[in-house]
Amino acid sequence: MRQDNTLYLVIPCYKEQEVLPETAKRLRVKMHALMEAGQISSASRVMFVNDGSKDRTWEIIADLHEKEPELFSGVNLSRNRGHQNALLAGLMTAVNEADVLISMDADLQDDINAMDGMLEAYHNGYDVVYGVRSSRKTDTFFKRFTAEGFYKLMKALGVDIVFNHADYRLMSKRAVEGLAQFGEVNLFLRGIVPQIGYRWTTVEYARAERFAGESKYPLKKMLAFAFDGITSFSVKPMRLILHVGAIVFLISIAMLLWALISKLTGHANAGWTSLMGSIWLIGGIQLLALGVVGEYIGKIYAETKRRPRFIIEQVLNKPGDR
Ligand code: UDP
Ligand code: MG
Repeated sequence: MRQDNTLYLVIPCYKEQEVLPETAKRLRVKMHALMEAGQISSASRVMFVNDGSKDRTWEIIADLHEKEPELFSGVNLSRNRGHQNALLAGLMTAVNEADVLISMDADLQDDINAMDGMLEAYHNGYDVVYGVRSSRKTDTFFKRFTAEGFYKLMKALGVDIVFNHADYRLMSKRAVEGLAQFGEVNLFLRGIVPQIGYRWTTVEYARAERFAGESKYPLKKMLAFAFDGITSFSVKPMRLILHVGAIVFLISIAMLLWALISKLTGHANAGWTSLMGSIWLIGGIQLLALGVVGEYIGKIYAETKRRPRFIIEQVLNKPGDR
């Protein structure tokens, strides 16, 4: 078992006044149980990040901290920055104090008992443990269909993500320090975390429904999030233009031949041949050119992200380093 086991539970909260008191109550019981079992140290904390809520969310967090500063911490963002940014803010604040960090949602839709398995994996030497939903029984057909379609589309586009994993995950201190090196502004954490590397595994859990309040992810936000995820990690949509351009160009040559043959055999109206030929040719050349430009933009895009090119896990240089 690892000795460095101070856990920080990072929880982004946006307008969560209905759920926070109950969430705090359940987490208090869970955290104390984990401490007693020796899984985490007594310095472990629950850190709530208020993502610019206009309701009583921050008051409740500040209150929790005042009454139990040894268990509850709070981070208040200057304004609403969205779930991913709020989560990152919490992780970056907590990483200085923590040995291991778990992120979860304020509504406790993710089974908090899955933390046992995550911590066990951590103690067995894993650096990243992804919480993976075992069933989507509680979801509507529409949500299930769109969500699973999204994961499949991401995979098809070559984005490395874990199937049915949202943002319920454990990360060791060094994994979060690795995350800190990713400088991108369009945050899509479930795409970035697999890029950090280190030893990882998954833990399954059943996802419940929200016990109070309503979802802060309406369809519009969900679609924007999915689009962000794809365009942040894949240049395939752009490469598609290049491929289509090449195909249209080939078709244009066939069309040209056909138009010529029609003309020579006397089946064509005057002007039709040149018109057909030029429409397809110009179209094909335009798409091809656009695709080539796109390739360059894709490279520029990747460069501007300034992602770390590597993260070193260990160096053996002196005797006794191992
Ligand atoms: N959240 C946030 N900022 C936002 C929207 C959501 O911090 O702008 C938090 C929210 O408080 C919750 C988590 O992100 O802790 C997930 O949101 P929600 O439960 O509404 O999403 P769903 O489970 O419906 O996908
Ligand atoms: Mg939720």
